[in-house]
Amino acid sequence: MTTAAAPIRIADDARIPAPQQSVDTEFFWCSGADGYLRIRKCQRCHRYAHPPTPRCRFCGAPDPQPAVVSGHATVFSYTVNRQPFVPWLPPPYVLAIVALTEQSDVHLTSRLVDIAPDEVRIGLPVSVVFEKHGDVYLPLFGPTRVHVAARGNVDG
Ligand SMILES: [Zn+2]
Repeated sequence: MTTAAAPIRIADDARIPAPQQSVDTEFFWCSGADGYLRIRKCQRCHRYAHPPTPRCRFCGAPDPQPAVVSGHATVFSYTVNRQPFVPWLPPPYVLAIVALTEQSDVHLTSRLVDIAPDEVRIGLPVSVVFEKHGDVYLPLFGPTRVHVAARGNVDG
């Protein structure tokens, strides 16, 4: 599986509140600046873990380091929100838990983009898309389009 830089889009509306950053999470929220998603990886047991913690949750080794991942995942679970809870996010929109391709027990909670809510399914392949809000790059996920690219010119 290739690891290519993901698209970065600039948010139309800057009113979205920035995620609360800490020394453990700053890398995650800023990772998309170069188009790559990073997840902390243990230097001893080589397992990824998210959300970030100061010690490996599997073996206890200190200081897991951010590592680039492919940005590919599958939809583990999702819900379609149809209520206008926040002014910057008009409904309907899809909130999802995605499982990373590298390690299926690493889950990220995110929003799905570029797909109609009724097209979302459990197991759908998705890829990261970053949405820039100031210094923060929100990792969102959209349908993986590798199948289209592999077919080549389909305009015929
Ligand atoms: Zn470990």
